[in-house]
Amino acid sequence: MFKRPANLFGFDRVALRQFFDALGERPYRADQVLQWVHQQGETEFASMTNLSKPLRAKLQDMTCLEAPSVVSEQVSADGTRKWLLRLDDDNGIEMVFIPESERGTLCISSQVGCALNCTFCSTGAHGYNRNLTSAEIIGQIWLAHRMLGCVEKENRVITNVVFMGMGEPMLNFDNVVTTLNILLDDFTYGLSRRRVTVSTAGVVPKIDALKLMCPVSLAISLHAPNDELRNKLVPLNRKYPVAALLDACRRYVSGESRSRITFEYVMLAGLNDSKSCAHELIEVLRGVPAKVNLIPYNAVPGFAFQRSDTATIDRFRDQMLAAGIMTITRKTRGEDIAAACGQLAGKFHDRTHRSTRWRRYRHTVELTA
Ligand code: SAH
Repeated sequence: MFKRPANLFGFDRVALRQFFDALGERPYRADQVLQWVHQQGETEFASMTNLSKPLRAKLQDMTCLEAPSVVSEQVSADGTRKWLLRLDDDNGIEMVFIPESERGTLCISSQVGCALNCTFCSTGAHGYNRNLTSAEIIGQIWLAHRMLGCVEKENRVITNVVFMGMGEPMLNFDNVVTTLNILLDDFTYGLSRRRVTVSTAGVVPKIDALKLMCPVSLAISLHAPNDELRNKLVPLNRKYPVAALLDACRRYVSGESRSRITFEYVMLAGLNDSKSCAHELIEVLRGVPAKVNLIPYNAVPGFAFQRSDTATIDRFRDQMLAAGIMTITRKTRGEDIAAACGQLAGKFHDRTHRSTRWRRYRHTVELTA
């Protein structure tokens, strides 16, 4: 039977060492290959000159190095870049780079679409197709490095990586952990744990598992301070309610004196932006080392949600600050190219048919409006 060659992009150091061991090769060959691929950007085995010629030939026969391909690139007026990437089954995902004066943040996708259906999110409305492989996730970072330049520590362009693109990373846990192992490895990108953030809508058991496997920075898409409201905005809350989620957050940072959890809170006019919501948020965050990121809602065509006005967002922020909770309003970036939070859509076949139902619904709303 035809067997697909192993895509070495998806191998972390432990897996690659095992692979070489099984080939009867010395384990340090894994370190050399990781450096060639991730630091030099090399995908031709023939050019990996510190490997023996027979080994290069064997790798050529048995393996491959395939990253997603770039379909298009858009650059926002504020310098934010968005790429549409094609996977080998023709699904399309999106990735965003956000340059700032002191850092450059790459926002990557973990799934084709998203299965969670948060009611205000464009990605959710487009439905879901599948998990990305670890090769497809790390392939995004590899590609961005090639397109943006240098990997070396001293003059890096990508200083931070966030799992805030399409998908729920905790529902693709194993492949995300493999990707984290690769990202943090000194033979590849050597990013520190603090500079890599996994964002989740709140898959409680996986928060505990991440602490065991690879405790990087954690962001929680909270968006509401109580179950009644959060059930409506983030349906996953019915499975993992606010109290259980915050307990998991406390466990995540316990024993790590300097760590804080980031709480993302999208500002939706008239829904979650009142004084009493801020008051409730202060109460529920008690005892959790927290920083709160208020995200001005990015409009999604066809959705009735609206962004809170600036004065309301400022008042909410000041109320949080007065209670001693570190709070900032996240700057909206790349809105003109639909690259802002929650606007990533990609191009793929929706296996849930949610997008069809949504389009039909939207059509009805537009007709009756
Ligand atoms: N599934 C993960 C990763 C997505 S991160 C998670 O939920 O954390 C993307 C962030 O943008 C999440 O906090 C999400 O809730 C938020 N978001 C989604 N739609 C948005 C919109 N239209 N405007 C602003 N933020 C949005």
